[in-house]
Amino acid sequence: MRYCRFLFGGGPRYGVVDDCAGEACIVDLASAPEEDLAFRLAHGGATASSLMFHITPLSTARLLPPVTPSKIICVGRNYSDHAKELGNEVPAEPLLFFKPPSSLLAPRGVVRMPATSSRVDFEGELALVIARRVRNLNEEDWRTAVRGYTLANDVTARDLQKTDGQWTRAKGFDTFCPVGPIVSDEVVPEAGLTIETRVNGELRQHGSTLDFIFSIPQLLAYVTSAITLEAGDLVLTGTPSGVGPLQAGDLVEVSIPGLGVLANTVAAD
Ligand code: MG
Repeated sequence: MRYCRFLFGGGPRYGVVDDCAGEACIVDLASAPEEDLAFRLAHGGATASSLMFHITPLSTARLLPPVTPSKIICVGRNYSDHAKELGNEVPAEPLLFFKPPSSLLAPRGVVRMPATSSRVDFEGELALVIARRVRNLNEEDWRTAVRGYTLANDVTARDLQKTDGQWTRAKGFDTFCPVGPIVSDEVVPEAGLTIETRVNGELRQHGSTLDFIFSIPQLLAYVTSAITLEAGDLVLTGTPSGVGPLQAGDLVEVSIPGLGVLANTVAAD
């Protein structure tokens, strides 16, 4: 199952992403709250024939972030090559931080570079979409906690990250969390997903989820030993090496085969 969220008729709608005569299209699921969508997906109600209101090409839809999380939990330094490039030790335990839901940005939206920062970096990441309320998860049960996967860009004011002493502002500016374009449960991170980030078409990051320091089961067990996750919450799994600064006018694209391309432009605020 692949789905997205998009604007239609003045409001947000969820839609199943399908193949329509060789082109990716959205089959509208009508306006559905997150939990209702999960129910429909779980009970097989989301078939094109039963729920079809409207079909629109994915390429021209006004996409929204495909999730409405109560919180966005991020993992720092989960690829050893990225930890080394910033001069950091490989951590003994996952390093967690939050991004606020107000930092969410839609696919094709504009990342606004704040005037208070002189270095805004991209960080392409695989993100987990949580399926249900979960706390104290056992590692072996991790699949029941994940609805699917999407792409994220953990945009970071690198200079403020260093000078502030903690990361709330540097990671939390409005527009600093592009997410999407789709959520899919049809990819298998534990088998190895190639994640790439391009800036103006030039390859800048190339990593594999096989190089995680902490696996998805380990991350979810660690997070939920402290924090209850809710349906629709996001967990960003860290970025590989190659992070670097963005400039006004740049086009930044994060991609994983099967999850599409998360494309955003950059402008001064
Ligand atoms: Mg990151």
